[in-house]
Amino acid sequence: EVAAHLAEDHAPGATADGHRVLLLANIGTAEDAERAAAQAVEGSGLFRTEVLFLERETAPTREEQAATYARALRAFGDRKVVIRTLDAGADKPLKFATQPDEENPALGVRGYRLVRTVPDVVTTQLEALGDARRETGLEPWVMAPMIATPGEAHDFAAAARAQGITKVGVMVEIPAAALRADAILAEVDFVSIGSNDLAQYTMATDRLRGELADLIDLWQPAVLDLVAATAAAGQRAGKDVGVCGESASDPLMAVVLTGLGITSLSMAPVAVPAVRYAVKAHTLEQARAVGQAALAADDAPGARAAALAALAPGV
Ligand code: PEP
Ligand code: MG
Repeated sequence: EVAAHLAEDHAPGATADGHRVLLLANIGTAEDAERAAAQAVEGSGLFRTEVLFLERETAPTREEQAATYARALRAFGDRKVVIRTLDAGADKPLKFATQPDEENPALGVRGYRLVRTVPDVVTTQLEALGDARRETGLEPWVMAPMIATPGEAHDFAAAARAQGITKVGVMVEIPAAALRADAILAEVDFVSIGSNDLAQYTMATDRLRGELADLIDLWQPAVLDLVAATAAAGQRAGKDVGVCGESASDPLMAVVLTGLGITSLSMAPVAVPAVRYAVKAHTLEQARAVGQAALAADDAPGARAAALAALAPGV
């Protein structure tokens, strides 16, 4: 009953005093895009395009890719759609692109780094995104995963702009990128924090090892520090800093992220109503206090408890 009540609220994401935080859907296919677009979301903050490449002997053609991207763009119409370029490698191996013999695949050739080994795959995808943009007349936001340096952000932005893409971003999911967020932001129009990998690389903890879940907890204060530093850099630059990892779907964390200055939250569509409710229950000033309380904690359970204790009384 509570869920049904929450689902009736279709308002754009905002705090009690009207500070906007976009509520976006994570998607993996054109069908996902159509399903998500039918719900009360403000667009997609993460289209995981590698889904189109998995279980194949060769890469999908430029035409096939363009058709998929165009379908996703059309599904959302004038709403925002952030399309992530191929994030193969490590937990997402590809037959034609990733090396099977890497000893440390999470630290190897994955994400944007594929440009070193299979540059044509990366180029063809950007060409297909340019095609989809021209075909639909809609403006995709395009971002690269696993960026470590401002130089990589620069090279990716140049390659994307060469295909006519005008909204170019990168993911912040490597601590080096968070620590140098000002320089990264100088190269691109926006960034999006991948909290799953940011936690994995900050805590040196494999995201797939259940027995280490306490270490990779997204409430680890060191991870929150890097999120806060990235958000602050975004505010200095006047550019959007989103979160598209699992963090964004936790309502209490969503209040923390809002308070730290994150401007959009992208999550599984099912999580949107509860996050909308949590963000709306607080003013920006209250959310800031919740964020600072979490940052001041010594460990992950302490950060969660401190955030909860700092919530407005009665919520
Ligand atoms: C992340 O790392 O948080 C992220 C959103 O990307 P993925 O989970 O696809 O690696
Ligand atoms: Mg990631």
